[in-house]
Parts: sequence; structure tokens; C-alpha cells
Amino acid sequence: MTEGPPVVVIGAGHNGLAAAAYLARAGRRVLVVEAQGHVGGAAVTREFAPRFRVSSVAHLTHLLDAEIVRELGLRRHGLEFARTRLRTVALAEQGEALVLDGNRIVAGAVPDADRAAYGPFIDRMRRFAAVLARQHHRVPPRLAWARWRDALPAAALGLDIRRLGRDDMREFLRVVTMAIYDVLEESFASPALKGALAVDAVLGTRLGSRSGNSVFSYLHRLGGGGPALPRGGVGSVCDALAAAARSAGAEIRLDSPVAAITVGGGGVAGVRLESGESIAAAAVVSSADPKTTLLRLLGARHLEAELAQRVHHLRSTGTAAKLHLALSGLPRFRGVAAGDAGERLVLAPSATYVDEAFNAAKYRRYSSQPIMEITVPTVHDGTLAPAGQHVLSAIVQFAPYDLAAGWDAARGRFQECVLELLERHAPGIRGQVLAAELLTPQDIERDFRISGGHWHHGELALDQALMLRPVPGAARYAMPVAGLYLCGAGCHPGGGVIGAAGRNAARVLLAGGSP
Ligand SMILES: Cc1cc2nc3c(=O)[nH]c(=O)nc-3n(C[C@H](O)[C@H](O)[C@H](O)COP(=O)(O)OP(=O)(O)OC[C@H]3O[C@@H](n4cnc5c(N)ncnc54)[C@H](O)[C@@H]3O)c2cc1C
Repeated sequence: MTEGPPVVVIGAGHNGLAAAAYLARAGRRVLVVEAQGHVGGAAVTREFAPRFRVSSVAHLTHLLDAEIVRELGLRRHGLEFARTRLRTVALAEQGEALVLDGNRIVAGAVPDADRAAYGPFIDRMRRFAAVLARQHHRVPPRLAWARWRDALPAAALGLDIRRLGRDDMREFLRVVTMAIYDVLEESFASPALKGALAVDAVLGTRLGSRSGNSVFSYLHRLGGGGPALPRGGVGSVCDALAAAARSAGAEIRLDSPVAAITVGGGGVAGVRLESGESIAAAAVVSSADPKTTLLRLLGARHLEAELAQRVHHLRSTGTAAKLHLALSGLPRFRGVAAGDAGERLVLAPSATYVDEAFNAAKYRRYSSQPIMEITVPTVHDGTLAPAGQHVLSAIVQFAPYDLAAGWDAARGRFQECVLELLERHAPGIRGQVLAAELLTPQDIERDFRISGGHWHHGELALDQALMLRPVPGAARYAMPVAGLYLCGAGCHPGGGVIGAAGRNAARVLLAGGSP
């Protein structure tokens, strides 16, 4: 272990913890300072009603990096899954629900042509998604190459696309910037099928199904092993990461909010906590979002004006709310087989419905007919609620951060809309509700210190991706102020519980990387 001041990691979310673990394993002295009284950030399991626990923000893992799980020995450090490869069940008010299992449609009334087209469509989209997923471990290329080595990541991306073969390469380049709505129109007739697929393209974004870039967002989500439920909630991923970091020698200090990143001698000098304590650092690695890190903790005065402007204009207005219900029994969803209640349920009867739900957010209103991704994790995981009772966790869109009416005034009405909609699909559920918690993007910003309460710490779109993420000139983890690194979801490859940003940032620091 090195002597001298530690590398200070700001934030014990999953990316901060991954960075800490890799740095400590490489022999660096590491101190993680976390504002909350627990680890996890937006990947945390919390009690929201007496004896009912829930994954408070992220509730499924789609993209968790298998290599990180293996390298850091997360299974040895306690990570277990209650279920992997959940099916997707598209809720319908009438008839049998559509059920998607990997690349097969296993239930629901869809035309034969859709049934036949579905497998090849998903397989092709997975090949496209794999191209993007292959970039997760690569530091984005420099736009102006100083050395040939800097050009390699761009060449590797080009090669990955080329290796798709002529037909797939053409199709990838054609669809990647398109709206998911148009791609689905070309492929299928069933509104229910198109609605279910469109959900994956817009969750966590400020996009509708008719927005350009929604295929890119769909491919980002498709690039992992499929939806899974960690036992004990998503927080258990971070508990395992924290155990891995500690066992490698990292220290984690909770209840230690950072007030400022201090600068001196031509680079970062350390951090000052809100308590007034100053900590000297060999380097500072921040998993807080880019606006928080660069504008609030570092201060725009330490950045070139143009870079500060770019960070200021980073689009990071969240649109996803979370609803948590403590239930006295298992809800019965219309058209859903009893054995499927614990699968991933989506509420979006058509791709048009998805776009109409988004329309409201464009004008700073909430959707009165929102889309939802629902899980009832207690079907598979008895650790979250008393025996026989259940927890329902729903991501609800669109609930814009910047609601014109203000969330204080609108919170009750929005929750009522969501409960009414749930009651239509699960008659009697309202009578089962023992307690409810609604988190709007403003609540998420306050409780989890994420600017705008945004899923990705900043919209994930092609103009804010790869070498443009979070902003041009600061896309390679090392910031223009010497000794400062970003390692959170605001960096490449973006949000979702992945861990690659933390791992990449640690690698860059260890290699002495520059912006
Ligand atoms: C509503 C919603 C639902 C989501 N659902 C899913 C899902 O189902 N699956 C999925 O994969 N992803 C989901 N996500 C996205 C996912 O939760 C995030 O992208 C991911 O958790 C971000 O991890 P991170 O480590 O980069 O940052 P964070 O988890 O935000 O961690 C940053 C940490 O830094 C700390 N911090 C911030 N400022 C300071 C400071 N000044 N001093 C000290 N500490 C500080 C914070 O307290 C926090 O612990 C969802 C996001 C939202 C908003």
C-alpha cells in the first residue's frame, strides 16, 4: 500500500465503490467519503415502511458487468440473485397478457407474422447492442489524436461495427439514430408488442417512442444479461462491492458529505467536508454527477469558460419517478398467470401510448396515463417483507423534474393517477395497500444527491455519449484539473448499475491518464 495522502473517492454508489476496489487492489491508499449513512447511492435497499424493504431507485440489474463481478469476487462477498433473466409481461386490461422470454413470445395473442419476426428482431438487436456493450471497458477515443495509441479505441469501434458483416452493419448505421417507433412499425403489427419494446427505449430518458435516439437508448439497455433481481434488493450489489473494496484495504467513511474539492499547486489538493474537516488527497475521484462535481464541488472558476458552459448545459432533467407499495397480499394482475406475477411487468399498451405519455413531460406536466415497469420482488425474495406480504416497486414515467405545477402541489394527484391505473390492471390492489412511498425526480435529487434526479446523471443520447460524455473535452475520466477524475454514471458508458465507469476511471488514474 502506498504511503502519503489517499486517493479520495467521493460517493459510495456502485461506481465509486468499484473505483475504490480497483484502486485499493492496485496498492493505492483509498478513502471513500459518502454523504449518506449507508453505501449504495441509487443502488440501495431501504426500509420504506416498518418491516418492508425495497430497492429504492434502481430495482433490477440489466447491465451489471459480469467481468467486474468476477474480478472483484462479488459472489464471494455476498452477491446472490433471487432470479435472473426475468420474463417481460405486458399488462393488458383485457385478454391474456403478452409474455416475452428472451427471444421468444411465449404467451399472448399476437399475429403469427409477429411471432415469427420477434426472434430474428431480438437476435439482431442483441448483436447491435453487443457492439455498444463492447465499448464499456474502453476509454472513449480522443477527438484530436496526439499519438497513434489514442486512435485505437475509435479504430476498435469501427472494427466492431465492420465485423457485424455487410447487412447488419448497414442496418446498424441506419437504425442507431432512429426513433424506436419507426423501427417497430417496420417490424411488427401488434400494438402490445410494440408498446412493451418501446418501454425499454425510453425508461430513464427524456425521450418518447417517436424521438430520435430512442433506438440508441434501447440498445444501451439491451447490452447486458437481461433483467435480474439481486437477493436482498439492488443494494446487495453495493454491499458486495463495499466488502470487496474494504477487503482490498479501502476505508469508507459514511455521513461525510463533501462541501468542496480543494485546489492548490496546479491541481486538486483534496476535499473539504461539510463538517469543515479538510482531507489532503493524492487524487480525487468523484462518482457524484458531473454538474455536482465540476460546478458545485470544484467550482466553474477552475474550468475554462467553454467547458464550464458545456457542463452547465448538460441535459440532466430526470423524468422517472418511483412508487413503492407495501401490500397485505399478492396482487392479481388481469390476464397474468399466477406464476408470472414475479416477472418484470410493463404497462404500455402501444408505442403510441408511450409517446403520448412523454408528450406531457415536454410541457412540464406529468403523464396522467404513465408507462410503468413493475416488479414484485417478494415473489422470489422473502427477505424484503413479512411472510405472506409483498412489496411492489414501479418505475413510473413521465414525471418531469421541472413540473410546472410544482411537486408539492401535484404529488398527491399524480400518486392517485398511478394507483387508479394500477387498480384497473390489478383489481383490488388499492385495498391491499398498507403503505406507499412516491419518489419524484426532485426527491431523488434531494435524497441521492443526483442533479435533476436523472437516471444517467445526464441524458444518454448520441450527442452525450462516448467521446462526448459527459461533455467534449472531459470524456476520458481525467478532468482538465490535474488529479481530478470523474467515475459515475455521467461518464461513459452511462447509467444503470454497470460498474464500468468506476473500473475505467481507476484504470485511467493508475495509468496516469490525462484528459
Ligand atoms: C427512478 C430511477 C430508476 C432506476 N432504475 C434502474 C434499474 O432498475 N436498473 C438499473 O440498472 N439502473 C436504474 N437506474 C439508474 C441507476 O440507479 C444509476 O444510473 C446508478 O445507480 C448510478 O450509480 P453511480 O454509482 O454512478 O452514482 P450514484 O448511485 O448516484 O452514487 C453517487 C454517490 O455519491 C454520493 N454523493 C453525491 N454528492 C456527494 C457529496 N457532495 N459528498 C459525498 N458523497 C456524495 C451520493 O450520496 C451517492 O452515494 C434508475 C435510476 C432512477 C433515477
